[in-house]
Amino acid sequence: MANNDYYATLGVSKSASEDEIKSAYRALAKKYHPDLNKTPEAAEKFKEINEAYSVLGDKQKRANYDQYGSADGPQGFGGGGQGFSGGFSSGDFGGFEDIFNIFSNFGSRGNARVREEGDDVNINLVISFTEAAFGCEKEVTVTRKERCSDCNGTGAKSSSDYVTCSECNGTGRMTYTQQTLFGMTRTVGTCRTCGGKGKIIKNKCPSCHGTGLKTTTSKIKVKIPAGIDNEQVIRLNGEGDQTASADGVAGDLRIAITVQPHSLLVRKGFDLYVDVYVPITTLMLGGKVKVPTLKGTTTIDVAPLTQSNTKYTLKGKGVKYLKSIGSGNLIVTLKGEMPKDIDKNTIKLIKELESSISDKSYPKTNNYNKKLDD
Ligand SMILES: [Zn+2]
Ligand SMILES: [Zn+2]
Repeated sequence: MANNDYYATLGVSKSASEDEIKSAYRALAKKYHPDLNKTPEAAEKFKEINEAYSVLGDKQKRANYDQYGSADGPQGFGGGGQGFSGGFSSGDFGGFEDIFNIFSNFGSRGNARVREEGDDVNINLVISFTEAAFGCEKEVTVTRKERCSDCNGTGAKSSSDYVTCSECNGTGRMTYTQQTLFGMTRTVGTCRTCGGKGKIIKNKCPSCHGTGLKTTTSKIKVKIPAGIDNEQVIRLNGEGDQTASADGVAGDLRIAITVQPHSLLVRKGFDLYVDVYVPITTLMLGGKVKVPTLKGTTTIDVAPLTQSNTKYTLKGKGVKYLKSIGSGNLIVTLKGEMPKDIDKNTIKLIKELESSISDKSYPKTNNYNKKLDD
């Protein structure tokens, strides 16, 4: 035992601080705790880790170990009568009580009662583009488990059918002893007869068949905040499945939002985009152009000789920010369109137009042609 390198066991240096040793121990204890780690070497490893910490975690023993290579025989460890699940006395392990908080879920500590938790319930909700942009209130139908009102969640037909478990005397906890690598270990765990409830049902409640829960369908009003987007989820705490026991925690209701597309506007984040098509002559002559917005339409002034694909940013005409004040922008891309058919007379007019405009008046075309000639 004295030949063991306790520092190597915990993976720390000889100069490690008390905190470093403690956190290295916590991490390893969690990794190799036999209740969490089912590999065959876990139990042995866990024993070694505890042995190392019983020395390095104690100032005096660590000083002895550093000086003499021995902690002067660690007291109280390896006696064979106590197990890892509840037997260590706090005198041997300074940090043990709070270390066990990590494991509070599997019930090794006699007083760690596990609260019942209901499951989350997931539903889908489809809303329109403008409902998402401005927010709305919706009524959703939720199918979930609710505490049975006939038995108040006990699952028993009457109060006389709900009796104290004689095995654990109503505590819900039992001490079990078993033979392990360390000898006999004592484990405080959930009573196997009553499943930890401390009560036994003699005759089951007919409406919930003894489960204490009933599946119900309820209508719930949900406020959808302005600015919500497609594929976002609204979580309503405690609106999911209830638990049979009144001191349990109900699950959450998770509402996955689908936003229907708009016929003209495209949303990216909080900005909106729209392609607005105008006759090619509007680009040449200029004029007022109608643009769709979230609420009706607005008008933009297009200057004469505006290029196709010119963009206009309408500040604040986008979607309201979900989590702050203000809104995104509406970005308009102006697209000039050619007519589909024209008559002979129009062709003649266009030819006149062509000859009356110098090639140099088309800056990009002119530039492009120059590069072609090179
Ligand atoms: Zn019991
Ligand atoms: Zn019932």
